[in-house]
Parts: sequence; structure tokens; C-alpha cells
Amino acid sequence: MKLRRTRHEGWYEIMSACPICGHKGWCGINKEMTIVHCMRVPSDQYRDTTIGRQYIHYLDPDRVPKTKVEIEIVRLVEKKPDFHLNRVYRALMKELGLSEFHLDHLRNERHMSEEAIRLREYRTMPDRDRYRVAKRVISRLNDQDDLLGVPGFFVAEGTYGPYWTMAGESGLMIPFRSIRNEILGWQIRVDHVPLELSLKGHIKGEILEEVDPDESGRRRAKCSLKVQDKRLEVILTEKDKKECYAKTGQFIFSVELKQAQRYWWWSSSSKPNGSSIGSPLPYHLALPYPCLKYWEVGEDPSALIDCSEVWITEGPIKADIAADRMVKPFLAIPGSGAFQLALEPLLALGCRHVVLAYDADVVTTPEVQRSLELCAQFFADKTDMSLSLAMWDISQGKGIDDLLANELVPQVSKILD
Ligand SMILES: [Zn+2]
Repeated sequence: MKLRRTRHEGWYEIMSACPICGHKGWCGINKEMTIVHCMRVPSDQYRDTTIGRQYIHYLDPDRVPKTKVEIEIVRLVEKKPDFHLNRVYRALMKELGLSEFHLDHLRNERHMSEEAIRLREYRTMPDRDRYRVAKRVISRLNDQDDLLGVPGFFVAEGTYGPYWTMAGESGLMIPFRSIRNEILGWQIRVDHVPLELSLKGHIKGEILEEVDPDESGRRRAKCSLKVQDKRLEVILTEKDKKECYAKTGQFIFSVELKQAQRYWWWSSSSKPNGSSIGSPLPYHLALPYPCLKYWEVGEDPSALIDCSEVWITEGPIKADIAADRMVKPFLAIPGSGAFQLALEPLLALGCRHVVLAYDADVVTTPEVQRSLELCAQFFADKTDMSLSLAMWDISQGKGIDDLLANELVPQVSKILD
């Protein structure tokens, strides 16, 4: 089991498959390996945190995973305060451009205007010479130490000694704005989505290399698998799940090649002198783009737009597009379970009515259904804001941005008065 230290003494984040839900990341385990805080499989006991509800599961002491435990040694640097992050990220903005490739994507696939793209300040994370960018950012600041504690930057070791550079895959960089127009983080929409193996049951394996896709364009990879001490090399195809059952019908293992996620936080938590984007994760307040021209750093946006009603969605570009089309403030949160992150900014904005606009395909999943109930409970307990749910048929568009692009509007119904 691969573990990563957390801020809570004696608790680790499980970086390999969680013994309860089988997914990687988010779930936690204690030092004694007796209690799991699973983010996905419900149980009667739970605790609520800023990243969502953690369900408490007690492991049977005789069934405690006997696999070797590896603890990642990470010399994490504490994330710097907001005003500092904003200063460094705005200096970075001046040093990064937007590639023709990403401009085309925003213009042609997202149907954004030139002015909207410019005012939203999207950038491109280059695939080379990143240390040059870092050097130019430093020259805009006071000294080298200013990059310490800023997620995304880290120190690499070169022939001539250590130097500052930037982590992450190359891709489109999307800035996350606070309610005072501070840039407090970035997500990268990666150009090349990596492949990953989803393994369940008695099987181990890893991807060796990606090979040419099949005739229908599905991606393929050469993988090394280990089943009952037998090692084999196979070529797996994306979305072609292999399952194995015993003659008795008992499940033995399954393996599937999948595309990993498209959006990643820009973070340098696993790098020397790097720091994590988390605790707390940033949210993103999207205003209609014409407001951005007049929105000074540190200024309350209420003078520019009515913030008594705020819409919440997942994904920063989605929020940007929806804010433009609906001419309303949108708050993007990282996942439907992360609604607690929205509380503070909503209260500060003086919001009275919150509208949740999650993707049409997720609203129907049990996981999101549960998080909607929790969300309603949370808002009822902590605020006197009313809460509504925006819904539409998936045939009209997956996300609210797709729906609005099709010139349709969602149906809004109150779930909490
Ligand atoms: Zn879990």
C-alpha cells in the first residue's frame, strides 16, 4: 500500500487502491491500519470535512492488508498566504503566452470570443524551457524565495546546482479567481491525457508503453500484468474490460485500460521544495467577462454584478462560459462533494439564493444524489440561503455550458427554502 502523510498526525492518504472502495487517492487510513476514512463507500459513521464526507470503516484486524507499506517522503512546504500567491501567479501570467492550439480550442470548440479569451487570462504551460519562465518570474519579484510555497513551482537539481522550474503536464492553464479577484491557483487541461490501468481483485500490473491505436482510434498500451505469480505482457485496448471468474462464478480479477482525468491541479506536492494546492483547495468565481475589465484586485464584485444569486458548478471553463451566457456569477468547485468550500465565499458575497448546476449525467448517480442531500442539510444548518437545483435532460447537453450553447435553459426547482 502506498501512503502519503497528511496534516493530521497518525493519518495517511491512501495513494494505491483503497481497501474499501478500490479507488486511488482521497481516502485515508490510520497508522495502525485499523480504520479507513473512505470518501466513496457509505457507512453509518462519518465525519464531514472540507473535501466532503468521509465514511468511517473499521478493518477486521485479521484482514488488515499485509502488503508492504511504502510512505512517500515529501518535504512539503506550507502554501503561502493568498496575497503572496496572487502576486506570484500574476507575475507568471505576464511571462506565459497562449498557444495557437489552445486559442483555437477556446475559439472553435468552446465558442468563446477573442475578448472573452483575453480577459479571462488563460495561459499555456509550455513543454520545454520552463526554467527560463521561472527565472523571469523571479526577476519580477523580490527574490528566489518568493517561489517557495507557491504550488506548481519546485527546485530541480542540475549539473550546475539547483534551480527553480515548474511542474505539471503541458496544457491549457485555467486561473482560479477568489471573490476578490486574486489568482489563487490553476488547473491544467492536459493536451495529452495519460492512460491508466484500473485493476480489481487478485491482479497487479503496470503500463509499459503506449502503442499505436487500433483501426477505430481506441488507444492501446503494452502492459505487464501479474496474476498468481505468473507475469505476462499483453497489449490492452481502451474501454475493453477483461474480467475473470472461477468456475464457481466467483469473481477473481478485472483489468481495464482507461484514460485518466483531463483536468489536473497545478501543484508540485511531490517535488523538492514544492507545495500542495490543497488545504484549502481553491474555488473559482466566474463573472461575465465584460465585468473583468473593471474588477480590481481586492475589490468586492457586488459593485459590478448582483451577487444575491450565485450558481455553482464543477469545472472552471464551464463556469466561465455559463457566466457569460447567463450573465450571472458562477462559482466553480472541485467536485460536487466539495460544497463546503463554497460557504465562506457565498456568505462574503451576501448571496441569498444558491443554484446547483451539476452535469446531467452525474445528477442521477447515487454518489451525487447523496452529496445533494448532504449539501441541502449543510446549507440548512449553516445559512439562511435558499437552495435550488438546475436540471435538464442529458440529450440537451451534458454540462450547463453545453445546454446553454444549444440555446436552451435549465429547469430550476427549489430544494430548500
Ligand atoms: Zn475508499
